[in-house]
Amino acid sequence: MFTIEQLLQPSSLDEAAVMLSENPDLVVLGGCGFLKMGSRRIAKAMDLSRCSLDEIWETETQIELNAMTTLYDIETNTSLRDCFDGILPRAVGHILGVQFRRCATIGASVYSKYGFSDILPALLVLDTEVELLRAGRMPLAEFLDKPVTRDLLVRVIIHKDDRRASYRDLRNASADFPIVNAAVSLYRGQWAIVGGARPGKAMLATKTCQEISKPSVEQMNAAAVAQQAAAELVFGSNNKASADYRRAMFAVLAKQALEEVRACK
Ligand SMILES: Cc1cc2nc3c(=O)[nH]c(=O)nc-3n(C[C@H](O)[C@H](O)[C@H](O)COP(=O)(O)OP(=O)(O)OC[C@H]3O[C@@H](n4cnc5c(N)ncnc54)[C@H](O)[C@@H]3O)c2cc1C
Repeated sequence: MFTIEQLLQPSSLDEAAVMLSENPDLVVLGGCGFLKMGSRRIAKAMDLSRCSLDEIWETETQIELNAMTTLYDIETNTSLRDCFDGILPRAVGHILGVQFRRCATIGASVYSKYGFSDILPALLVLDTEVELLRAGRMPLAEFLDKPVTRDLLVRVIIHKDDRRASYRDLRNASADFPIVNAAVSLYRGQWAIVGGARPGKAMLATKTCQEISKPSVEQMNAAAVAQQAAAELVFGSNNKASADYRRAMFAVLAKQALEEVRACK
């Protein structure tokens, strides 16, 4: 269990920005699901629950997941269930149990760039941006490539379009971390194939996607494309699985996802 010596509770993002710049070691709190696993002694922590960041906002053109939106909010949101073939509710629905998902937040989940993430691959095949308090707004892919800096993730913005999408994951047990996962989407002829839990942050199979998205490609062999994407992405070994096993399983998951998206056309 971790210990917090001083808790700051800003009531607006402006106040949070001042606190962040005045306190170089300030730890931002999400739902504390991950922080609770450690035994850190935190001198100053900032709780965002008074900053009105716990809701999903929807307009005609975008869906905004504010930082304190929980994974359960995402899982049960009717718009997210309807958009993109429900890829986001599907991706978060396997993370531990409901009790945990009612606490864990999207802000922490995206900002932390976890190498085992179920959420990042699904977000990466959509038109997703992140808004940071200091660095401002940028595409999710750009944020994932940047080195970690001290900032606060304010919200995740998903632009609405009629893309079709699918998410697949492999786990040893339902409440375990994913061994590997795959997300696929198709929008106006442009395919996106992403591998996650490689282990390592979610990664787009750029070359494969460019090749199969060419107008000259009339018929795609899903198994061959999945193999090509698996060969392009980098996989690693850890106590859960070897790199070879992950690559082989990714090819299976990506093929299933490609076929599902193609069937939705
Ligand atoms: C046992 C366990 C199993 C898990 N299994 C999975 C899994 O299978 N798949 C999966 O995808 N995820 C999994 N997760 C991760 C989980 O889904 C959340 O992503 C994680 O708990 C972080 O969310 P939180 O709200 O609990 O963050 P916290 O514990 O509150 O914070 C985590 C980190 O994020 C920082 N932070 C919090 N909010 C912000 C913010 N708005 N801006 C910047 N930094 C911030 C904190 O300072 C801290 O460093 C697991 C976590 C645990 C503890």
